[in-house]
Amino acid sequence: MLNLMYIGRFAPSPTGPLHFGSLLAALASCLEARRRDGQWLVRMEDIDPPREVAGAADLILRTLERYGFEWDGAVLYQSRRHEAYRAALNELHRTGALYACRCSRREAMEAAAAARLTPGVYAGTCRTAGHAVDGPGALRVRTDGALIAFSDRLQGPQRQALEREVGDFVVRRADGLWAYQLAVVVDDAAQGITDIVRGSDLLDSTPRQIHLQHLLDRPTPTYLHLPVAVNAAGEKLSKQTYAPALPMDDPLPSLWQALAFLGQRPPPDLLEGDVPALWRWAVGHWDSTAIPTTRAVPL
Ligand code: GLU
Repeated sequence: MLNLMYIGRFAPSPTGPLHFGSLLAALASCLEARRRDGQWLVRMEDIDPPREVAGAADLILRTLERYGFEWDGAVLYQSRRHEAYRAALNELHRTGALYACRCSRREAMEAAAAARLTPGVYAGTCRTAGHAVDGPGALRVRTDGALIAFSDRLQGPQRQALEREVGDFVVRRADGLWAYQLAVVVDDAAQGITDIVRGSDLLDSTPRQIHLQHLLDRPTPTYLHLPVAVNAAGEKLSKQTYAPALPMDDPLPSLWQALAFLGQRPPPDLLEGDVPALWRWAVGHWDSTAIPTTRAVPL
């Protein structure tokens, strides 16, 4: 019977084909949902056209199918969710958390240095400037001393003093595009996601997402951040580090390797079988407590 208490998801950005790193997130989130008799949804995070590659969204879905993934319901495309993000922005505005920022990148960097903040932290320069929120500029949310603590199912207790470690952060960019942080929070809530399993490259984003959940009065799901696969130079496998696309013609070795990476000890004879047999073994034996608890593992 389906467990309606568990809804997980995989949320790729169509910036290129799936690679081994994204396979880990897809596989772990799906196996955890299946093991818990829950639902597993796929959401296409296509809200950043300048970074997207034509055809990548369809290619990602075809690759998932080829690798034996079956998702529940229809794929949700973030490019069709502008209304929901606009409504959330209005909610943030009503709570007084939103303000417009007209700092250039350089001004923001100089303000951080003058305030002795870590580079990249926003010093709150425009907080009291009173720029119109419907005028030019990015829109940021106030962090106001928020201390966010949560327990990651794999990485353990986490805490972040948002104002000092991140600063007021952008929810709508100066170019008018929605920030990932806002879209992900709105859609995780809209889809009723109860449990998030994803790569630990997103661990540092989680406190920002929890802060937005608090401001928007949305529930906080549980989080499990997987170790990410890194190359010999210690860089995360990604399009930027030229991670190779998953092969379409031969899914078994990558699936097997992903299970092994996730600490699942797949028997070698699975490599002689077929994709459905590998999935049967994987669902039957999936044990999230066997996943290595580090944030990065060399491949
Ligand atoms: N779309 C994001 C990515 O591909 C992942 C979002 C998430 O899992 O929260 O990196």
